[in-house]
Amino acid sequence: MADPFKFADDLGPAKIIHVYEPAINLRAVLVVDNVALGPALGGVRMAPDVTTEECFRLARAMTLKNAAAGLAHGGGKVVLYGDPNMPKADKERLIRALACSLREVQEYILAPDMGTDEECMAWVKDEIGRAAGLPEAIGGIPLDEIGATGWGLCQAAEIAAAYCGLQLKNARVVIQGFGAVGKHAARFLAAQGAVTVGVSDSRGAVYNPDGLDVDALWKLKEASGSVADYRHGRKQAREEVVDFDCDIWIPAARPDVINKENVRRLRAKLVVQGANIPVTAEAEQDLHDWGVLCVPDFIANAGGVICAAMEYRGASQDEVFTAIKEKLRHNTRLVLDEAKAKNILPRQAALNFAGQRVKKAMSYKRWSIF
Ligand code: NAD
Repeated sequence: MADPFKFADDLGPAKIIHVYEPAINLRAVLVVDNVALGPALGGVRMAPDVTTEECFRLARAMTLKNAAAGLAHGGGKVVLYGDPNMPKADKERLIRALACSLREVQEYILAPDMGTDEECMAWVKDEIGRAAGLPEAIGGIPLDEIGATGWGLCQAAEIAAAYCGLQLKNARVVIQGFGAVGKHAARFLAAQGAVTVGVSDSRGAVYNPDGLDVDALWKLKEASGSVADYRHGRKQAREEVVDFDCDIWIPAARPDVINKENVRRLRAKLVVQGANIPVTAEAEQDLHDWGVLCVPDFIANAGGVICAAMEYRGASQDEVFTAIKEKLRHNTRLVLDEAKAKNILPRQAALNFAGQRVKKAMSYKRWSIF
């Protein structure tokens, strides 16, 4: 058996729970990484192909993201194995069963992630009463519907652009993934005058240096399910979105999409990380060395979790938008200034800042090592 403590370091993970219910083929992993700041908050990802290691990395990203965003929450993540597009009745049964199996794990609050949504969280809430990212009808602020993360990305992009001699007006943007994060980022950026020149989703990519019509892309995504059907641009394979010439490149799909094999192909001045861990450590170092600025995931995409945490405490939608704007602009500036002053990667500056917060909280614990 593999070493169960192979991920262990100063911060966690506090618990790894494997859930297995053969009768309904429920297979899931929960990683509660760190709870020094409060109960772990992080999404339930439904996918056919995620490993425990990836779940741990995603949970760690939540620890750092929640700490950086100043939330009273630790980090955790669930991966639920299965096709997120399975028949709804089967999905509901799996999600409800998952919730029941985690009923007693009070230090983890379930929230939506890729493959799950507000409705899934309503089922969880119905079963165990402990979920964030709920539908409006039961007191939630539907974070994907309002585009909380896309709103935050737009704030981070605006601040970071200035560090690359850019401004959002007329900046050429490419977005990988046109789901809850990517499509709202496109919308908010367009409102600031940025021009989306390329997008992709799981079915393909499209590029037009003169700009794509974001409203039309939204409609296409709703109608046919894919931006690849957009007519007024050059259609390409989905992996080729990396090659699209632009100023700002926004990954909003899967982990590790920029890696040592393809990093040389990226043609942008700024990468604002919408997806979690979309750039491998090696590739991020290369980008830094080549003068491409990267705003790290756990700073740039914190809008969703800020929304979920505030919803959990009964805040209004307006309060959420204001808080995301303030926190994301402040944190982006803080991290980029620190990185510049110390000549370190923005991720390192962000890690230092978030890690210090977590360690400070851990220092109040009886068993503290800090
Ligand atoms: P989503 O399921 O709504 O959308 C994902 C999009 O990515 C879809 O358009 C899908 O077609 C596309 N996609 C999938 N595989 C692809 C590939 N190989 N190439 C190009 N496109 C591909 O998911 P989402 O909520 O938008 O999340 C996207 C990413 O952002 C994930 O990494 C998620 O963990 C992260 N994230 C989401 C939130 C949030 O608020 N939803 C917050 C923080 C981070």
